[in-house]
Amino acid sequence: MYDRRHEMAATILIVEDEHAVARGIQYALQQEGYDVTLARSGEEGLEVATRDAPDLVLLDVRLPGIDGFEVLRRIRAAGTKSPVLMLTARDEEVDKVIGLELGADDYLTKPFGLRELMSRIRALLRRAYGDLADAAGGRVIRHGDLVIDLDRRRVQRGQRRISLTPTEFEILRHLASKPGRVYTRSELLDLLRDYDALDQDEKTINVHVSHLRDKLEDDPSHPAFVQTVRGVGYAFAER
Ligand code: CA
Repeated sequence: MYDRRHEMAATILIVEDEHAVARGIQYALQQEGYDVTLARSGEEGLEVATRDAPDLVLLDVRLPGIDGFEVLRRIRAAGTKSPVLMLTARDEEVDKVIGLELGADDYLTKPFGLRELMSRIRALLRRAYGDLADAAGGRVIRHGDLVIDLDRRRVQRGQRRISLTPTEFEILRHLASKPGRVYTRSELLDLLRDYDALDQDEKTINVHVSHLRDKLEDDPSHPAFVQTVRGVGYAFAER
């Protein structure tokens, strides 16, 4: 089944042990069109954050087990770059400094209004992903820090714009629209023919994919996004 989450809202992870608070925030965020996951402890938050690379993490400082600071430290140590908004209590002013030093992007003091929370979240998403982050509900595909805006035909990794040829964009669009679905070279060729009367053969698909990887991947020889399925074709990585 095609997972529509890939082309919809930004994903937000809430790490908060107080159930009523967590559910209240979750509900409000879902109303705004965000895709929300809850974690009830630091350990669970850490696991979900490093596994799913959510677009943003709401992280409470006071948690049972490992606290929010330790979660933050380990998230950053694991290389997860998602923006983190820390939630602190009023008497934890000093914590803010520690949080920012550990790599938090912003903090909010409890109790806070939902409107304030929404505006902080929007600002963080915009700062991290540019204009594309506003498109909760828009035709946007996200995978980690890779953002593909289908309507505007724009591709970004984090803040960095990636310039693709029309053919490269079309290949990426088809693959990324159905993560895990394997496309043969001849299928891709057919899809490109629909898009443009291209005089190409299956071997040119390899060349386009190679160029696409050079632009998109940190290490094109070990692609994180566009993967080769040996003897069959290509597939976009699943989350
Ligand atoms: Ca708490």
